[in-house]
Amino acid sequence: MERTFLAIKPDGVQRGLVGEIIRRFETKGFTLVGLKFLKVSRELAEQHYGVHRERPFFGSLVEFITSSPVVALVWEGDGVIASARKIIGATNPLTAEPGTIRGDFGLNIGRNLIHGSDAPETAQQEIALWFKDEELVSWQPHLTPWLHE
Ligand code: UDP
Ligand code: MG
Repeated sequence: MERTFLAIKPDGVQRGLVGEIIRRFETKGFTLVGLKFLKVSRELAEQHYGVHRERPFFGSLVEFITSSPVVALVWEGDGVIASARKIIGATNPLTAEPGTIRGDFGLNIGRNLIHGSDAPETAQQEIALWFKDEELVSWQPHLTPWLHE
């Protein structure tokens, strides 16, 4: 079953949007399989955003993501990687569609509330970077027959 990695960034936590953001994935019908609340180390931040190391915003991005706690999440479901990216919305909240998390709650590209893996390979890498195997919980939600024919 497909899994993706999401992180509610420091702005989402500080603004009291943890419940609202988790609710959107829960009510969509995806299954929560991992959750933790943590202060991100510089090492983890630099690894997580390693692909952006040469970009001009890398330093401020690492500063920001390590500045205050985040909520790390793993969600499971068919098509969850692409669907979560749609629920999250475009990188710049000003151009993100209303109805998306960034479109509804954000103003600024450096304060866009949430991270979501962008492809199967990155999802796998990010889940392994942020979670140990034993921190992920496989379970069968009783809702399954009401969500899938
Ligand atoms: N970012 C930024 N300025 C930019 C582009 C990106 O601060 O001009 C930050 C922003 O927090 C974004 C993150 O870097 O979410 C990763 O960028 P990416 O292009 O991967 O966007 P995402 O996958 O988060 O939509
Ligand atoms: Mg990205």
